Amino acid sequence: MLYCPRIKNGIAFTPNRDYDVCGVRDLNSSSKLGISSTSLNDFLNSDYRKNLIETADRGEWPKGCEGCFWLEHIGLPSSRQSEIEIEKAQSSPLVHFNSGSICDSDCSMCGPRWSTTIANRLKTHPDPTATFYTLGDDSIELPFDPASIQNLKDAIGQARRLKVLGGEPFLDKKLWNFLDQVANNNLTLIITTNGNTYPSQKQFKILDKFENVNLVFSIDGTGLTYEWIRQNLSYKTVVKNYLKLREDYKCSITAVAQAHNLLNLKELAQAFKNVSFVPLTHPALLSIRNAPDWAIETALEQTQDILELQTILKASRSAKPTHDLDALVAHTEYLNGHRTHYFNTKEWMVQHRR
Ligand code: SF4
Repeated sequence: MLYCPRIKNGIAFTPNRDYDVCGVRDLNSSSKLGISSTSLNDFLNSDYRKNLIETADRGEWPKGCEGCFWLEHIGLPSSRQSEIEIEKAQSSPLVHFNSGSICDSDCSMCGPRWSTTIANRLKTHPDPTATFYTLGDDSIELPFDPASIQNLKDAIGQARRLKVLGGEPFLDKKLWNFLDQVANNNLTLIITTNGNTYPSQKQFKILDKFENVNLVFSIDGTGLTYEWIRQNLSYKTVVKNYLKLREDYKCSITAVAQAHNLLNLKELAQAFKNVSFVPLTHPALLSIRNAPDWAIETALEQTQDILELQTILKASRSAKPTHDLDALVAHTEYLNGHRTHYFNTKEWMVQHRR
């Protein structure tokens, strides 16, 4: 048997506005049961959910759970394993949803579906090198038809934890009106934020209505590395906000290890003691395995005392056959044209061809 608390009792509202059991499953495998046309009970009793449970009970990984499978395969903790730990602390079940695409950041590994800033950039400067998103991908909004809102509220009524991703949640006014309605002192709120926006007084009041608040900061580098990956954001501001909010809320940092921060990982780990590193898997073009061999070897040497990074780097090195440095350089040069400073791909290429 493959036990996953999310398969047993999780509820997610996907960006496509379908139900699923978990927000980290592959979107293509979601239920296709629309949240505006399907009641929560119908989803809970659906064949889709029964099949997932039966597949896991047989000890097989359901289609769509490849992310967890891969992390566990390379020896890193998966969402499934984290959920098992959380369940022991009696904080299940979880409801997970994306609020919408309003975002002030133009992150290199993100797309128009998740950021209005990227959608705007692509309208005026189409990206000929990206194959990992569709230029016409729609922005999304918190669903405001009454049936979807009611189903979302019903699901939250059964939950102990509510996890919200964006866009950037602190910029989404509709989201905060909604959170104000569902906040209660039996519910833990988990928000993934880019950290560039300090909460307003109104947002603080809403946060304080929840039993617990966990703020997960996405910080993928230090200084200029951070600001290249997360164009438009200020490293200094994000760090200041993180340090201030940490005084009153549980705050953690997640960093996505990828080709563009490979040689900055050590500095990032030194800057913050509590960073959780996860390998970038999508878009695969920007993953570490497409970086030059010498850069991976250098990062391995630099991070010898950080087990999590050694695991990610060694797994990336062994996945090397799929490596496509030329495509990564072409895409990086496109991004360089839309950033305030330059990522030096010449160094990659020169060293690569030696
Ligand atoms: S195995 Fe992982 S991806 Fe699949 S439902 Fe569980 S937590 Fe989600």
